[in-house]
Amino acid sequence: MDFSFSESQKKFRQEVRSFLEHEIKKGLWEPKCDAWIQGYNPEFTKRVAQKGWIGLTWPREYGGQGHSHIDRLILTEEMLRYGAPAACHWFPDRQIGSSILKYGSEEQKREFLPKIMRGEMYVGLGMSETEAGSDLASLRTRAVEQDDCFVINGQKTWTSGGRFMNYVSLWARTDTNAPKHRGISEFIIPIDLPGISRIPMIDITGTEAWNDIFFDNVRVPKKYMIGEKNKGFYQVVEQLAYERSGMERLMGNYPLFDALIKFVNETKYNGKPLAQDAVIRHKLAELQVEFEVGRLLIYKVFITMDEGRVPTVEAAMAKAYATAFEQRLANIAMEILGPYGLLWAGSKYTPFGSIAARSYLASKGYSLQAGSTEILKNIIATRGLGLPVNQ
Ligand SMILES: Cc1cc2nc3c(=O)[nH]c(=O)nc-3n(C[C@H](O)[C@H](O)[C@H](O)COP(=O)(O)OP(=O)(O)OC[C@H]3O[C@@H](n4cnc5c(N)ncnc54)[C@H](O)[C@@H]3O)c2cc1C
Repeated sequence: MDFSFSESQKKFRQEVRSFLEHEIKKGLWEPKCDAWIQGYNPEFTKRVAQKGWIGLTWPREYGGQGHSHIDRLILTEEMLRYGAPAACHWFPDRQIGSSILKYGSEEQKREFLPKIMRGEMYVGLGMSETEAGSDLASLRTRAVEQDDCFVINGQKTWTSGGRFMNYVSLWARTDTNAPKHRGISEFIIPIDLPGISRIPMIDITGTEAWNDIFFDNVRVPKKYMIGEKNKGFYQVVEQLAYERSGMERLMGNYPLFDALIKFVNETKYNGKPLAQDAVIRHKLAELQVEFEVGRLLIYKVFITMDEGRVPTVEAAMAKAYATAFEQRLANIAMEILGPYGLLWAGSKYTPFGSIAARSYLASKGYSLQAGSTEILKNIIATRGLGLPVNQ
């Protein structure tokens, strides 16, 4: 077992850091929490694309770089450490491209992959519905075959992609007679097709990263169905493993961790440095231990991917652990900052640009999005420990 990085991986990490530091120094953007999902910056995405860092693991014959998944993990780890605004390309790079590579036709690979790698395709994830979250297979959006199209009717909720998405990935029912898991298909749909409308969801932090999307007799050409008809549920289960397993589940709020340590180092309370307060030191030390454990769990996921396996159980363990870490980090920041932590941007007393208050509010959703912690524990119990499925 080798826990060290190769020389070329260390060099790559350094290259990514230099790029990001240069961008920050030039004032092109400011580090932010949750910037992987809320930091929409097409120009940044284009510059990342020019470096060849979108589709890093994809085969060279399709324009990818053929790197390992660990290399991509290094890249994303650094993006998150610096709070880089990577939301435009995050979803297609993380999971949509891989799904197209595995299940898409040759025509779809040639159409979509170059667009993703050029940083021009921004995809929202349209799985959940108002009555289908944990039990995704009960979704009701319908896709009915008609001539050379599928006609889609229904509603999705919590669809990521803000107002910037130009495509939506959609799972819809294509067979109403089959058992519910076996009648679903996957689509990638241009968002400007007639009949698609969107209402932004303003979340608890006041941002607009998600949408309710409505499909009203939308005629979607058949070429936009990915993979085999009625096999979409099995494809989405695989995608969810990629969606759950990334470093973003542990490091979405890394700028807060960084700022908190700096604050404790620089601040005195009643004449005594906070950094010498035993309770605060221990809280931060505990967080650091948990952070390192979370990192190892996520590295294990990516090693599994490099071995060519779908990391279903590994991803469930990593996400359940990592999101609990993120929530503890936000709680501890609140405990250390006291009432100041609650202040929103605009007050001169707000510590580090209100990221503590923002992270505290946002962290509540982490154990729900991409599968709730209870669902992840069910996966670990059944597929990891071999316990029977709950009836
Ligand atoms: C911030 C945020 C971002 C999101 N982003 C997206 C997105 O981009 N795209 C998308 O499609 N969806 C997205 N979602 C939706 C998310 O996937 C669902 O909220 C999630 O799957 C839970 O579904 P639900 O909200 O319907 O809750 P329910 O499924 O109704 O669950 C309610 C509660 O019951 C528990 N529960 C349900 N079933 C079981 C069971 N079998 N065993 C034990 N406990 C159970 C759950 O853990 C939860 O605590 C997002 C949600 C949030 C909060």
